[in-house]
Amino acid sequence: MSSLVVAIDGPSGSGKSSTSRGVAVRLGLRYLDTGAMFRAMTWWMLSHGVDLSNPEAIAARASEPIIESGTDPLDPTILVDGADAAIAIRSDEVNAAVSPVSAVPAVRTRLLQLQRAIIGEGGIVVEGRDIGSVVAPDAQVKIYLSADAQARAVRRAAEAGGDVEATQKSLLARDRIDSGRATAPLTMADGAAHIDPTPFTLAEVIDQVVVLVEAVSDARGSDA
Ligand code: C5P
Repeated sequence: MSSLVVAIDGPSGSGKSSTSRGVAVRLGLRYLDTGAMFRAMTWWMLSHGVDLSNPEAIAARASEPIIESGTDPLDPTILVDGADAAIAIRSDEVNAAVSPVSAVPAVRTRLLQLQRAIIGEGGIVVEGRDIGSVVAPDAQVKIYLSADAQARAVRRAAEAGGDVEATQKSLLARDRIDSGRATAPLTMADGAAHIDPTPFTLAEVIDQVVVLVEAVSDARGSDA
């Protein structure tokens, strides 16, 4: 499975992270959370006083932050300029600013380079919004995980603590920007399998993805 890339895309709160990490652990693969990289970029911009209402100001500084992602699915890490940013990137401030920052083409170009360098020869589960469509269009397995906004908000509020209604509002605001942007919008990639995890447990969703990955690996083995 060393050259394998599993792309898992979908909107916020659809269970991508738990599913992706679970699949990577089960199959002995690495794991990359590309959302954490966009959050890290956003946190850096906020910390450096960049005017986030000005896409040109964001673009001008997009090459500056040094963002390092650890790919152990049991302990994924994110460093910004050498400092652990795992907690800082989950703040309400970052939640509110991350989608506009992620819509800036220079930000996407910079992070695309980092993402492709990490994906390298493969052996990895990668989660995000544009993995199957743009970052790794040749991924052997593409999954689109999505559920209705209410179910996603209930899930995210239970995970992060917080009010379901406010969480749903924040998810929908991000969905709108992520789906509507000109560069690499959230979309279901060609060839992706759609899974709505709502009626299933996490373990069942992981099983479904593992079955798809094993089917592809068996087919590749018999082609060889
Ligand atoms: O996955 P997560 O919710 O942490 O992602 C945060 C934000 O990062 C998304 O709302 C989106 O704006 C951006 N993102 C993106 N492309 C990706 C991953 C995340 O634009 N591949």
